[in-house]
Amino acid sequence: MARLYGKQRRILVTGGAGFLGSHLCERLLDQEHDVLCVDNLFTGTKRNIQHLLSHPNFEFMRHDVTFPLYVEVDEIYNLACPASPVHYQHDPVQTTKTSVHGAINMLGLAKRIGAKILQASTSEVYGDPAIHPQTEDYWGHVNPIGVRSCYDEGKRCAETLFFDYHRQHRTRIKVARIFNTYGPRMHPDDGRVVSNFVMQALQARPISIYGDGAQTRSFCFVDDLVDGLMRLMDSADEVTGPINLGNPTEFTMMQLAQQVGIAANVQVAIAHRPLPPDDPKQRKPDISKALELLGWKPTINLAEGLAKTVAYFRAIENLNAPEGRT
Ligand code: NAD
Ligand code: UDP
Ligand code: UDP
Repeated sequence: MARLYGKQRRILVTGGAGFLGSHLCERLLDQEHDVLCVDNLFTGTKRNIQHLLSHPNFEFMRHDVTFPLYVEVDEIYNLACPASPVHYQHDPVQTTKTSVHGAINMLGLAKRIGAKILQASTSEVYGDPAIHPQTEDYWGHVNPIGVRSCYDEGKRCAETLFFDYHRQHRTRIKVARIFNTYGPRMHPDDGRVVSNFVMQALQARPISIYGDGAQTRSFCFVDDLVDGLMRLMDSADEVTGPINLGNPTEFTMMQLAQQVGIAANVQVAIAHRPLPPDDPKQRKPDISKALELLGWKPTINLAEGLAKTVAYFRAIENLNAPEGRT
């Protein structure tokens, strides 16, 4: 159903109560769009969207995207999927279902109503990459049967579905390959490296480095990432992606631990733990495509982003003391 008036769009954000999704909902509301947030609250929380619930243009629907969804919108951001290894490995079959059945349902919805649809894909489609930095034309190096496969292969299959709906049904698609992103509203217990290190630093516990800490990642602050997603959605229809979105500045986990220590203003002690299976050794996006096609590049460096993240974790820890975190 076409819009009748104005530039205001009706936008569905699946996974909208999660870390990235809640920031995205906020930014879309700032632009005066109507936002429908659909989330089953598996890893997301109502607390992330509490401040949006009374907004006249915001609606929350508790729903699992593995089931069909019949709504009328102009655009769909498909973010529903647990993202941290601890969370997505908790119920791996559900993780694959969320990526694959979720993509089929959201693409079926987009096809029926003629909506534009963006998929939150991931750098994990490159697996443990054999080329460095990773460009979008690299097909990846993924173990199909390992403990990370439910996420990696689920996301790869979702990309396949997006491109097949595009070729077969002319569905307008956008595929973003998101690299490690951090910031306020990450779940403190989600097991990801930034939240783990920040919590450990704030609680004066040793920083848990998996393996020797020489593996690398590139960390993008959430505001930059959300800006990239919105630019991609607003780009010309020919720009389908996949497009890497991430911060190309690369750090070893040892360097990250030091940076967290500086941001939290504490002396950090290191505790080495075993490296999880299939842990990629290096990860760094080539973002020339995003720069060329979207005019996008990150603007917030790690020190600045960590300072904001530390402030957030400090605040929620104090907020919940002394009863404990919820
Ligand atoms: P998150 O876990 O905070 O958010 C995911 C949201 O999806 C949660 O609110 C969760 O409750 C919801 N969800 C999960 N399964 C669902 C289902 N079946 N039906 C409806 N809702 C469901 O994670 P995030 O970091 O905000 O990630 C958002 C998206 O971005 C994910 O698709 C993730 O794969 C992708 N991504 C994130 C990163 C990152 O570093 N944060 C990197 C690459 C890709
Ligand atoms: N679907 C949905 N909402 C819609 C339209 C479709 O959730 O508004 C789901 C529906 O459950 C279907 C899936 O999307 O299984 C794929 O739809 P499509 O039309 O591509 O395929 P088909 O219905 O023929 O299986
Ligand atoms: N990592 C770590 N200590 C932790 C959590 C993670 O050293 O407490 C490492 C992990 O082994 C990986 C990197 O940090 O090499 C990033 O892990 P994360 O789970 O954040 O994301 P992903 O592996 O999916 O990039």
